[in-house]
Amino acid sequence: MPNTFLTRKPWNSLRINVACLNSIVCMGAPRLHFHLRRIRKMQSFLLDFDERFGAYLSPREFCLYNMCNNHFFYNRDPFELFLKCNNNDRVLIVTDPPFGCRTELIAHTLRSLVRLHNRINCLPATPLPIFWVYPYYMANYIKQDMPELQMCDYKLNYTNHSRYTNVGIARRSYGSPVRVFTNVPLELLQLQSAEGYKYCDKCKRYTGIENVHCDRCGNCCSQNGQTYRHCQFCDMCVKPNYVHCTNCRRCSQREGHVCALYQSMQRCWLCGQRSHIETNCRLWLQLKRRDRQQKQRKDQHYGCIICGQRGHSERRCTQRCRYFKETQFMGQAVIVARNKCSQKLRKL
Ligand SMILES: [Zn+2]
Ligand SMILES: [Zn+2]
Ligand SMILES: [Zn+2]
Ligand SMILES: [Zn+2]
Ligand SMILES: [Zn+2]
Ligand SMILES: [Zn+2]
Repeated sequence: MPNTFLTRKPWNSLRINVACLNSIVCMGAPRLHFHLRRIRKMQSFLLDFDERFGAYLSPREFCLYNMCNNHFFYNRDPFELFLKCNNNDRVLIVTDPPFGCRTELIAHTLRSLVRLHNRINCLPATPLPIFWVYPYYMANYIKQDMPELQMCDYKLNYTNHSRYTNVGIARRSYGSPVRVFTNVPLELLQLQSAEGYKYCDKCKRYTGIENVHCDRCGNCCSQNGQTYRHCQFCDMCVKPNYVHCTNCRRCSQREGHVCALYQSMQRCWLCGQRSHIETNCRLWLQLKRRDRQQKQRKDQHYGCIICGQRGHSERRCTQRCRYFKETQFMGQAVIVARNKCSQKLRKL
């Protein structure tokens, strides 16, 4: 087998306790496919855009495939046969798309494969375990497109990629940014203490040893492998090198911080809309005018604009329900002003 195919480190330390898991669809994950087939002797099928695999692999284990539009270039029958299960069989899908891929296309493809599996096996809408390899900073996009996926804090290292490795000069000081997003409950994914992970009793999941649990946030908040700290003004955990800007009411990188530009890229903690912060929230101004009882808050840089108290932000204010109604729809929070204001607003 040419070396160029063996591009990725096998997941030898991510243990998955899923009973009767015996067929794996490797969508754009050739290295994993070879590992499963040749070393673990497991049932695996590779769907990949690299046609060179066709010369080495039989149609029973490979189909040339575009994961951005769920297109099979060869006959799809061997793949459908692969998906056909006996009673106790479970199929798992692993995908490792190029990081530039649009997440909604991948999500759409994953849903199509699950539907195909269910149709072939005459099952009602049944979810399949999914593992999606992607960088942590894409978490919001994945959450939007597939809200059922959660990020596991396991840091994947790529042996052939200078930016995403844990060895050599290119090694990042806090490890690879590549993670696994999955619909398998995170407590089933055991990460090894010898590799720098621990189990958090409060979060009921494994996470990096450096990830300190924050009681205020109720979470082990770090996503990037650094130890975050809780900022009492932002009322959330932030990256350790971030500095609080009173003008912007948020922590951000000190370098190159320009308040106006920064604020134009923020989402308002009151109305959930983009491109302004709370002190410039037009909806809040309208609500205040309507509600004559509302006292003018003098210092709007510190403390909650809604109630005037310190120690929490508008996102967690117990009084926000007096002004805003929030509902979940397709993984997004929809924020609407109560009563007279009918303007529909988006997520915080
Ligand atoms: Zn925790
Ligand atoms: Zn916190
Ligand atoms: Zn802050
Ligand atoms: Zn600022
Ligand atoms: Zn606003
Ligand atoms: Zn408040």
